[in-house]
Amino acid sequence: MRRLDKKVALVTGGSRGIGRAIALEMADLGANVAINYRGGKEEADKTAAMIKERGVEAFVAQADVSVKEEARGLVDQVIEHFGRLDILVNNAGITRDKTLKKLTDDDWDAVIHTNLNSVYYTVSAVLPSMLQQEFGRIINISSFVGQAGNFGQSNYSASKGGIIAFTKSAAQELARNNITVNAIAPGFTLTEMLAQVPENIQEKILDRIPMRRFGKPEEIARTVAFLAADGDYITGQQINVNGGVYM
Ligand code: NAP
Repeated sequence: MRRLDKKVALVTGGSRGIGRAIALEMADLGANVAINYRGGKEEADKTAAMIKERGVEAFVAQADVSVKEEARGLVDQVIEHFGRLDILVNNAGITRDKTLKKLTDDDWDAVIHTNLNSVYYTVSAVLPSMLQQEFGRIINISSFVGQAGNFGQSNYSASKGGIIAFTKSAAQELARNNITVNAIAPGFTLTEMLAQVPENIQEKILDRIPMRRFGKPEEIARTVAFLAADGDYITGQQINVNGGVYM
C-alpha cells in the first residue's frame, strides 16, 4: 500500500516546473493524477508518461484556468473521468513583472485572473464533491512575494497575498467537513519562471537568500505531498519553503 492509493489528485499547471514535480510526487505515493496545462501539450504529455511509469493513472486536460468556465469545466472533467477528486493543487501561475509606472491594466488582469481568480473557480467547482465525500485536501501555491512584496511585482504580490487570505477563510469554513485548505509559499525556485529573470538579477537574488541557493521543484513538491498524505490536522496554514528568504 502506498500512502495515497485510491486517491485522485488534480494539479493545475502540472505540465512542467513545480507542478510537474508535485504531480510526480503524488504519483510516487500512489495517487491517480490529473494534470492541466494551457498551451504546452508536449510538456503535459511528457509529464503524463512519467506519471504512468509510476504505476498509476494519468489524465491530461487542457484548460485556461483564468477563464471561469474552463476552470470549472476542468474540475468537472476530472471528476467525470476518475469518479472523484480528493486532492486539489492550485499551482498554475504567471508573472508579468513591471513597476507600477509601466504596468498596464492587461498585466494586472492577466495575473490576477490566472493566479487568484482561478483558485476561487476550481475550489468552488470541487466543493460539492468534497463536501459529499467528507474529505478534501486543497493546497494552494502562493509565494513569499505574497508575504513580503517585491519590486516590480505589485500584480503578482497582490495575487499571491490574496491566495493566502482566501486559504485562511476557506479553511475556517470547511474544517468541519474534513476539508483542509493550506497554502505553500515557495521562495525562488529553479523553473522556467525563474529562468526569465536576467542572470545579473539572479546573482543579486542569491545574495538575499540565507541558504545561498535556489529551491528545487522537488522540495516544494515534497511539502505538498506531506500536506496531502500526513496533514490531517493541519489547516489554514501558510508553509514557507524558501531557504530563509522571508522569515
Ligand atoms: P512555470 O515553470 O512557468 O510553469 C507554469 C505552469 O502553469 C505551466 O504548467 C503552465 O502551463 C501553467 N499555466 C500558466 N498559466 C495557465 C493558465 N492560465 N491555465 C492553465 N495552466 C496555466 O512556473 P513554476 O515556476 O513552476 O510556478 C508554479 C507555481 O509556483 C506558480 O503559481 C508560481 O507563481 C509559484 N511560484 C514559483 C516560484 C519560482 O521561483 N519558480 C516561486 C514562488 C512561487 P503551459 O506551459 O501550458 O502554459
